Amino acid sequence: MDLAEVFNMFLTPEVKKFITAVVIVVGVLYLISIVWVIRDSYLRGSNPIVWGVISLVPFLGAFAYSMLRPPMLLSDRDEQDLDFTLKQRELMKYGECGKCGYPVEREYLVCPKCGTQLKNECKTCGHALNPDWKICPFCCTKVR
Ligand SMILES: [Zn+2]
Ligand SMILES: [Zn+2]
Repeated sequence: MDLAEVFNMFLTPEVKKFITAVVIVVGVLYLISIVWVIRDSYLRGSNPIVWGVISLVPFLGAFAYSMLRPPMLLSDRDEQDLDFTLKQRELMKYGECGKCGYPVEREYLVCPKCGTQLKNECKTCGHALNPDWKICPFCCTKVR
């Protein structure tokens, strides 16, 4: 009995079918891993061409990418930037004390740090009024 005969004894049609199925599944997984790496690196703002080439190394490439990929999705990062801008705008809405630069809120009548008068108080409703306002926008009381 030579080697070819032993081989043929093992490679029954069932075994051949099984091996073919395994090869197909592994091949499909390999292709999916490449597509995933390219798509994911693109979404994360990384270079999809470089990572695509690396992912061509079967499975090791995709594994290396999953270890080294940037931790955040690009859309998440955009959202964070937007969040930051919104917070800054929120701060801008208030302002600073003209004398000491301390951040003050819209309704502050005096600077909490240096005591400078920032706004006048409406005699009727108590809202903070800018010094140049002629009339209280909250209750229509004329400012003297
Ligand atoms: Zn101040
Ligand atoms: Zn008022």
